[in-house]
Amino acid sequence: MTTITVEASELTRIYGGREAVSNVSFTLSKGEVLGFLGPNGAGKSTTMKMLTGNLAPSKGRVKICGIDIIENPKEAKALIGYLPEQPPLYREFTVDEFLTIAARLHRVNNQHIKKAVQVAKERCGLTEMGKRLIENLSKGYQQRVGIAQAIIHNPMVVILDEPTVGLDPIQIRDIRALIKELGGEHSVILSTHILPEVEMVCDHVQIIHKGQLVFNGAIDVLKQQRHGNKLLIGLNNPPENDALLKIAGVTGIDTLPSGLISVRYAEGQLPAEAIVQAAVKSGWGLYQINPDQTSLEEVFVQLTFQEQGLQEQAA
Ligand code: ADP
Repeated sequence: MTTITVEASELTRIYGGREAVSNVSFTLSKGEVLGFLGPNGAGKSTTMKMLTGNLAPSKGRVKICGIDIIENPKEAKALIGYLPEQPPLYREFTVDEFLTIAARLHRVNNQHIKKAVQVAKERCGLTEMGKRLIENLSKGYQQRVGIAQAIIHNPMVVILDEPTVGLDPIQIRDIRALIKELGGEHSVILSTHILPEVEMVCDHVQIIHKGQLVFNGAIDVLKQQRHGNKLLIGLNNPPENDALLKIAGVTGIDTLPSGLISVRYAEGQLPAEAIVQAAVKSGWGLYQINPDQTSLEEVFVQLTFQEQGLQEQAA
């Protein structure tokens, strides 16, 4: 049975008469990692703050494991671990001191605090860092401490706002691996403006644009959208475009600066076999043929552009 851990219904936040977040609804189940993706200013942090009970929605509601965060904030918040965009670190403390305070704040039972600190350090690769001052740690390790404080009470839901911003590539790789691992036992929501991050870490993705959800689904569905009806072919002796356009299913040809040819085709009429046969028969010197994947960036632009178009039509 799937356990619903987060239920957001029609979340809306108005700032100065303008909707920063409009009618955002979704559910998250145990064990899922949800990527909340959008350009800067899209409404990600505002949504995270509402999900964690740090900002009251203008409209809508949030339930954590069935508990309404406005009606029962204490109970609901006890089920959440949150790493805000600016990690709440006391830099003059050691890692052990800080995590002990975090455990107390999260109401971990006194006799379990030592163990909780030890487990959080282990999970975040901080076992050797307990006696170090936080201010002397690298940004990547400080971020690990931020994540450790978010999971110290073993919450059902972990919410991380832009957890890899400002880290170097190795730190980013390590933090992403840690987030993936957390997904096994918790529900994780992470916000990011980095598309490949979502692809690497998440199984569900939501794209937010100007406060509105423009995509909500499994990462596989987003990936499928990358496969436009296009093939990329390489020919040593390319024919005139007409010869390619005559092949059944082919609807258009674009020769790319690299010399490769992008062949568009009608839905459901993959012309790969016919192209290979024609190339062999006519001596075109075919050396490459593969699906021409639209970059995720293009998918993202298409999604946000469509939404803008719809809004303009509605206006
Ligand atoms: P993101 O996290 O995706 O970068 P935010 O949620 O921070 O986006 O911001 C969404 C929109 O709400 C932006 O236009 C931002 O300027 C506006 N906004 C955020 N916080 C406030 C605030 N406290 N007062 C007024 N406007 C705000």
